Amino acid sequence: MQQTAQPSPEIKQDKSRVLSGIFGFDTFRPGQEEVIDCLLDGDNALVVMPTGAGKSLCFQVPALARGGLSVVVSPLVALMQDQVTALRLAGVAAKTINSSRSREQNVEAWRSVQAGECRLLYMAPERLMTERMITALQRIPLSFLIVDEAHCISQWGPSFRPEYADLKRLGELFPGVPLAAFTATADEMTRAEIVEKLFAGQARSFIAGFDRPNIRLSVEMKRDLKRQALSFVKSQDGAPGIVYCLSRAKTERTAQHLNDNGILALPYHAGMDKRERDENQNRFMTEDGMVMVATIAFGMGIDKPDLRFVLHTDLPGNIEAYYQELGRAGRDGQPAQAHMLYGLDDIRMRRMFIEEDEGAEDRKRRDHKRLDALLGYCESPVCRRGALLAYFGETLDNCGNCDVCLDPMETADGTEAGQKVLSAVSRTGQIFGAAHIIDVLSGSLTEKVEKFSHDALPTFGVGGEFSKAEWRSLIRQLVAGGFLAIDIEGHGGLRLGEKGGALLKGEVDFTYRPDRVRPRAGKEKKKTATAATATRVIEDLSAPDAQLLTRLKALRSDLAKQKGVPAFVIFHDKSLIDMARRRPASQADFAHVHGVGEAKLEAFSEAFLSVISEVGE
Ligand code: ADP
Ligand code: ZN
Repeated sequence: MQQTAQPSPEIKQDKSRVLSGIFGFDTFRPGQEEVIDCLLDGDNALVVMPTGAGKSLCFQVPALARGGLSVVVSPLVALMQDQVTALRLAGVAAKTINSSRSREQNVEAWRSVQAGECRLLYMAPERLMTERMITALQRIPLSFLIVDEAHCISQWGPSFRPEYADLKRLGELFPGVPLAAFTATADEMTRAEIVEKLFAGQARSFIAGFDRPNIRLSVEMKRDLKRQALSFVKSQDGAPGIVYCLSRAKTERTAQHLNDNGILALPYHAGMDKRERDENQNRFMTEDGMVMVATIAFGMGIDKPDLRFVLHTDLPGNIEAYYQELGRAGRDGQPAQAHMLYGLDDIRMRRMFIEEDEGAEDRKRRDHKRLDALLGYCESPVCRRGALLAYFGETLDNCGNCDVCLDPMETADGTEAGQKVLSAVSRTGQIFGAAHIIDVLSGSLTEKVEKFSHDALPTFGVGGEFSKAEWRSLIRQLVAGGFLAIDIEGHGGLRLGEKGGALLKGEVDFTYRPDRVRPRAGKEKKKTATAATATRVIEDLSAPDAQLLTRLKALRSDLAKQKGVPAFVIFHDKSLIDMARRRPASQADFAHVHGVGEAKLEAFSEAFLSVISEVGE
C-alpha cells in the first residue's frame, strides 16, 4: 500500500504542554530546551550530555510536539524495549521493530506506522538501513531522524559498531529531515567524526558538561581482591549495583562469593545460556537490592536509574569506556559511588589486549594513549574528577566528592627509590618482570637470581627500606607515570619508559604516594559510614512518610509484575518519594506529583491514592 505523503493532521502541541501533560515534569532541565528548539527549527543537532541528564526527552518532546513519525536508531534491543515500554505507559504511541519480536508483532508495528498512528519508531541500524525499510520510509513524511548512542559510529572509538557506519547515508536518503545524534561519551576526536560522517559537517553542537557530581569516585589498589570486593559491596547496605569483572569465570566466582556472604548477586556474561542470562537481567531490573556481577557485555542496554554503585574489579579498557561504565550509577541524580580495584597485572593485561588487537599501528597508538589517560586517573595525586574531566576538555580543581579530595594523599619524593628500580631494570637487561626486579632489590637469593648472577650487580640488595609489597606499588606508580614500560610481547618484562632515562639521569623527579603503599588503618570503617549516609540522604523522610514509601514501593512492585515491566517504568523513586511527602488526596492533587502525566494519572492514581488514604486513616 502506498502512503500519501501528507503530514498527519493533528495540531502541533506546545513543548511545555508535552512536558507536563505527557511526562508529568514541571520544568526542562539545563540544556534540554535549546536542543528541543533547534530541532523544532529544523536544524541538525549533535548532543553530548552526560548519562542521566535527560537526553531522551530532548528528542521525544519535539517528536511529540511536531507529531507525525520520528525514527529513533538505537543499538540494542533491551534499550529500545525499555524506552518503548516507558513511553507507552506515558500514553505515547511508540513502537519498535526488532529481531527479538515475533513477525506478527513487527507486522503490527509497521501497520500502525502506515496508518499514521505511530509517533516514535525504534529500530536497530541494520534494520533501518535495509533497502526495503528505506524505500518504505521514504514514502512517509518523517518529522525527525534520531541516532542514539551516536559514538558507535566512531571508528576510532572503543564502541565502534560496523552497523553504524552505514548511517552516514541518512542525510542523503532523507533530505530535509532534521537529524539529531545523541551520546554521553565523546571526546573531541569522536565528536568531529560524528559531525563529519552523520551530518557532512552541517550540525549545531550542544555539549553539556561531562561531570556527574553525584557519583563519588574512588580507586583502591588490589591486595586481597575477594575481601576488598566483598567489603565494598557490603558497605553499600543492600543497594543495587553492578560489579564488573574482566572474565566470564570471574563473574561466576565473584557472584558465588558474594552470595555465600549474604548478598543477593547474580552473574551475567555472554557465555551464559541466553535464557538464564535474560532471567538474571530481568530479576536485576525488577527486584530490589540486586547486585549484578557482569562482564562489560552487560550494561550498554541497562537503563536502570537507581543503581547506587559500580565496582570494577579489573582495570577498564580506557578512560572513555570507564566513564561510560561508571556512568551507569546514579542516573537518578541521587548519591552513588564508582569504585575501582586495580593492580600492576591489570596494566600488563590491557597493554597486551591492545597489542593483540588486529588494528592498524595508528589505532594501537591511540589506544595506548587512551589507556595512559586512565592510568593517570588511577594514580592521580590530585582530584580524581579533575583528572577524569580533563580528558574531556573540562577543568575542575577540587570536587569534594572523590577519595583524593575527601582524604588527601600525602606524596613523597621517590626519586632515589625510582632510580634504584630503573637501574635494576636496566642492569638486568630490561627483560625481567616485577617479581624478579623486586627480588634483586631486596637481595633475595632465588634460583633465578643465582642463575643469572644478579647477586653480583651493584643494585643487588640496595632496597632494604621497603618491603616487597611496597616495591610492587612503587613499580606500579612508575609504570603509570611512564618511567617504566611493560613489554607485552616478552612476558610482561619491564623496560625503561619514555621518561625513564630522564629519571635515571636525575633530570626529573619522581613523586609517589606512600599511603597507597601502606594503607592507613581505620579507613574502611569510615567508608562504610559515608556509604550508609548516602543511602539515608535519598530518603530523607519522616518516619511515617518512610513507612508510606515502603507501601508505595510494594504496590509499584505488584503493578510492575502484573504488567511485566521494570518497576521504575511505572514510577521512579523520586515520584514515590514525592507522593509520600505530599500525600495527595484526590486525582487533582495526584496530577501534581513529579512524573505523573495524563496517562499515568488515569492508569495508576486510583491504586496509589487508595494506599495513601489507608495509611492516612
Ligand atoms: P540520558 O538518556 O541522558 O541518560 P534519560 O533521558 O534516561 O537520560 O533521563 C534520565 C532521567 O531523568 C529519566 O528518568 C527522565 O525521566 C528524567 N528526566 C529527564 N528530563 C527531565 C525533566 N525535565 N524533569 C524531570 N525529570 C527529567
Ligand atoms: Zn575530587
